[in-house]
Amino acid sequence: MPQPIEITFLGTGAAVPTPKRNHSAVLLHYSGEYILFDCGEGTQVQLQKAKVSPLKISKIFISHWHADHFAGLIPLIETLHLEKRKEALEVYGPNASRFIDAITELSYWGIGFDIIAKDVEPNQKVFENELFEITTVKTIHSVPSVGYCFKEKDHIHIDIKKANKFGLKGKDLKEIKESGKIKIGSKIVKLKDISKLTPGRRVIYSGDTMISKDLFKAAKEIDLLIHDGTHLDEQEFKSHASAKDVARWSKKYKVKKLALTHFSRRYKTSGEILRPVQKIFKNTIIAEDLMKVRV
Ligand SMILES: [Zn+2]
Repeated sequence: MPQPIEITFLGTGAAVPTPKRNHSAVLLHYSGEYILFDCGEGTQVQLQKAKVSPLKISKIFISHWHADHFAGLIPLIETLHLEKRKEALEVYGPNASRFIDAITELSYWGIGFDIIAKDVEPNQKVFENELFEITTVKTIHSVPSVGYCFKEKDHIHIDIKKANKFGLKGKDLKEIKESGKIKIGSKIVKLKDISKLTPGRRVIYSGDTMISKDLFKAAKEIDLLIHDGTHLDEQEFKSHASAKDVARWSKKYKVKKLALTHFSRRYKTSGEILRPVQKIFKNTIIAEDLMKVRV
């Protein structure tokens, strides 16, 4: 069984937090790795409530540098310093080095671990290991911004019976997995001849954005799309898509599950957004602080 991808919504409010909705932060846990998308004010207290040590976080991906998405970085870094973190912390974002330089300047005593700022642009692969990769997607906001796509590597299941038929042995299987084909005598055996491929699961976190066609193209048939849902249908703020439009686009692009987040304080109950949006796209959930979703 593949490992679960567990998402914990740490903050689901918009520019002004409420007692129920903290500033933006989404934690993704997969195969022992903890990744944070955005780090709004109060994120470390939310991490405590979710019973996750901040020391476990290896990478932070900032969608854009509005305070409701990054102001939690300063106290989080202070805590990591006090807890004697030694491992480097990677912080990704558009213009990340400019903001990380400014944040680290704020300390009297320096920080006891390295913070590696990674400047990103839309449509880039920004991280990859043997288990997953993270790419940026284009978003449309009032300042430089990106969304992030987490993609698990595809699973390749070798059918041993088929492999044996082609005369492949242990070390041949390693080679064919790595290079996609192998020469046996005069014959070339392709990986697809002896295996079944299960596509890796995908999650996109949009940050703040209007409707981005590029983002939805990347989100086609995606397992989970976490999208800005600041307003139900009002468009007086031109930097956010309406939740209803997000639902329409999610339906068009066959999103498997849509989690709306980043709600304006004007909405007192989740049902105010959920009911009209589910009429458009039934596979919608409304993110709540400390809600967990497994992919
Ligand atoms: Zn925001």
